Formats: sequence, C-alpha cells, structure tokens
Amino acid sequence: MGDMQDNMLPVIGLEIHVELATETKIFCRCANRFGDPPNTHTCPVCIGMPGAMPVMNQKAVEYSMKVGLALNCTVPNFTKWDRKSYYYPDLPKNYQISQYDLPLAIAGHLDIPLAGNKVKRIDITRAHLEEDAGKNVHDFPAHTGVDLNRAGIPLLEIVTEPDLRNVEEVMSFARSMHRLVRWLGVSHANMEMGQMRFEPNISLWVGDPEKVFDESAGYFTPIFEVKNLNSFRSLERTCQWVIDYHQAQIAEKGKAWSLADVGKQNWGFRDNLNACEFQRGKEEAHDYRYFPEPDLAPVVVDDAWRQKIRNELDEVGELPIARQRRYLTEWKLTEKEADALTQDIATSDLCDHSVEAGADPKRVVNLLLGRGAAIANERGCVIGKIGISDVQLPDLAKMLTKGEVNATAADKIFDIVVDSDALPAKIAESEGLLAVSDAGKITEWVDEAIAKNPQAVEDVHAGGKKQKKAFGFLTGQVMQLSRGAATPAEVQKLLQEKLGR
Ligand SMILES: [Zn+2]
Repeated sequence: MGDMQDNMLPVIGLEIHVELATETKIFCRCANRFGDPPNTHTCPVCIGMPGAMPVMNQKAVEYSMKVGLALNCTVPNFTKWDRKSYYYPDLPKNYQISQYDLPLAIAGHLDIPLAGNKVKRIDITRAHLEEDAGKNVHDFPAHTGVDLNRAGIPLLEIVTEPDLRNVEEVMSFARSMHRLVRWLGVSHANMEMGQMRFEPNISLWVGDPEKVFDESAGYFTPIFEVKNLNSFRSLERTCQWVIDYHQAQIAEKGKAWSLADVGKQNWGFRDNLNACEFQRGKEEAHDYRYFPEPDLAPVVVDDAWRQKIRNELDEVGELPIARQRRYLTEWKLTEKEADALTQDIATSDLCDHSVEAGADPKRVVNLLLGRGAAIANERGCVIGKIGISDVQLPDLAKMLTKGEVNATAADKIFDIVVDSDALPAKIAESEGLLAVSDAGKITEWVDEAIAKNPQAVEDVHAGGKKQKKAFGFLTGQVMQLSRGAATPAEVQKLLQEKLGR
C-alpha cells in the first residue's frame, strides 16, 4: 500500500455559485433581497405561472461580464439562454433558465497565491448566468414549506478546470474568488445567506503524477461531486474527507475503486457528522433535456458594450491578488499581513492612499492591523470602514516615524480619531499626548516614581531575581505618570542613572 499511496494525487475541479447583488431578480422586477418573510418577493414570472414572460436584467449580464473579464475570460459576441429541465419542489415551473453550450464567459484563468510566496495558475473553463431556485424550508413538524423569494435571483456559476491538486489550492482559489466578486461589487458573497456556494468535483489520480490524464500511466478513482457547500470550513472538510475516503477505498478494493467501474456520484456534506454521505449516481447532461429558451432573445455583446465593461473594470483598478503580490514584493510584508490588507477594497485603498501620502508602509500596516483591526472587530466592520481617513492615518504614521508620539499614545489617538474629523497632530496636542523626550520633564516623573515606590527601588538595589521585574515596574510607573507621553528609551536611561546602575 505504501507505494500506491505515494502515487495518489488529488485532482479537483470547483464550481462556484455566486448570487449577484442586483436590485431586482434576473427575469422579473421582484426585489433581490434576503431575509424578508417567505414569498413576499414573487410574481407570475418567478413563481413560474404559465404564459408569464421573462425579461432579461441587463445589470446581471454586465456583472457577469465584469467577473468574466476579471478572470481573463473571453466574453463571446453571442450567448443564449437554455432551459434545463428538472423537477423539484423549489422550482415550480419545472425548468431553470440557464446557459448550456454558449455561456457568457469562456476560457480564462486566475493566479492564486500559495504559501511560500508561490503562485499557481488555475484555468477557468467557463462562467455562465442562470436563475437561482427557491428554497425548501424544513421548519414545520409535519410538512416542508417552499420560499420562492430566492427563485429568480441571478446566479453566476464559475467552473474551473480540474487543476487543483490539494486542499490548500482549493481553499486559496475559493478565498480568492470570494474576495474578487466582493471587490468588483457584483456580489455580497455572504455565505451564511447562501450568496456563495461551492461544489467541488474530487477524484484521485492513481499512477504517475507527471502524467495525469494519460490513461496508460494510471487511472482515476470515482469522481465525487459534493453539492451546496456554503462555508469555507465545510469546503475544506469535504475535500479532506473525500481524499481520505478514496485512499481508504483504494487500500481495501484496489483498482476496483475506479472511475471506470464506479462512475460519478453525488455526495452531500453533513456538518453534524463532519462527514459526507452518498446521495445518488450522477445524472448525465442529457437527463436535463437542455433546449434553447424560446421566451428570451439571445444576448449579443458588441465591441462597444464589452469595452464599456472593460472600462468599468479599469476604474476598479488593481485587483486583490495583484495587490497582495505588490505588498509582498515591494513593501516586504508577510503573507499574513498582505492577505489581511487585501480582504476588501476599502482597507486596501486606505492603506495605499496613506502610503501615497508619504507615510512609511510598515508603520501604516502596523497601525491598521494593530489598533485598527481591534476596533474593526469591536464594531463588526472591515478595517477600512472604522472611520479613520486617508488623511488622518498617514498623519498619525508620520508622527510615529518622527518620534512625536510613542506607540501607546498613537493607540490612544487612533481611538479618538475614528470618531473625529480632527487631525491626529491636533488631537495629540489637545490631549497632551505628544511625546516628551525633554530630560527635565521626564526626570520629574522618574523622581516621583522612585519616591512613591520604595519597595521596588529596594528590589532593584538588592539585585537577583526580583531586579528585572522591579525595574520594569518602575518604568511602567513613569510611563503612567507621563500618561504615555514619555519616550520609553529616555525613561529607562534616566531611571538607570538615578538608581545608580
Ligand atoms: Zn418575480
């Protein structure tokens, strides 16, 4: 088994469903809104009454084009709508309007960041637009309800090539996509609200890892498709569970556990069991009986329209992964810092604008990820929205660099500045937080601290174990007397002199 195991390589493709944040649904004027009472945003079109005619929402198409172009896809001149037939309680008209053979975006790629400053290109097969289905509600003791508020919300499905080779790559891709669609402003991608869902296709290649897909060099285990994962955690656990499961199956059944023998299967992830369970053998595409949607005209994308969306994309500017790279290479940040700052555009812009205003990058980053992150956490918002502006932040960073305030004072100023329009320099002055390196002033505080703490002074003189702690205590007392304004190095120097060390 040892040899076998060495030659098993996960081969994973990912489908990502993203609900687009349009005002209205994709084919009717109902509001696209989460959380309202069931069936309050419905009309004959989205509940599938016979004869009701759909009208395409142009914004949904444009949002999809924008994602496609950001993923380096081709947006073809001609795309169309197709009916995908299936029968399910949350789909009253018994078909979903989707795109089958001519999607809105094809053949792109996304370069995802990996640990150790590495990057891997993941190819995108396609991205197509469809309508979301309704939702079954299992809140009743004796029956299931159906809420059709979600039916008809525009849903962009992004499909990758099976290029992902381990859980880390899957997670990096998923997080990168999450960040990208929010950055572009096309989706809130709130996973708790089901606005972003993942469906991995997972198989293991057993054979020569250099020759994946070469049938003379190995074979695939059955493809498991796991539907509707709506958290990063469940995606990560699912991938790991399936990989482990396939390895165990190979150990037990050998080559009988192959795609050729077992085929494709649909599995579901059960959160409470922390495991997947079998659902059914997978339908082939022809089961859906796709055919062109007769009630909607095809979408013709001319050069002018495509260029308009490209211009909008240019206005968004540098995308998160590119910024992450820049922070790593130009500012020499750690991967963790670069990742944290590019979670959202507001935080990243605040950071960039502050550095453009002449502040030192490392100072700005430390302020944002220190006190800034703590405040964001308290307020339940992103760091970029806590209330410090791109004029105030560089001002504060520069004061730190010049030694006009120390770190303790900077934190206090930060706390005040998020609720004020005043410049940090003004606040430092009015609050008496400007650093005091004036030896005369600090000497007064040192003398006071020594007079008030004879025991600590005695411990310092006694030497041994207690000395270091007592000295630290006295330093702290002086800093407190100065309300954080004294320069710590100066305090320690003067204390040492006074205590005769
Ligand atoms: Zn409607």
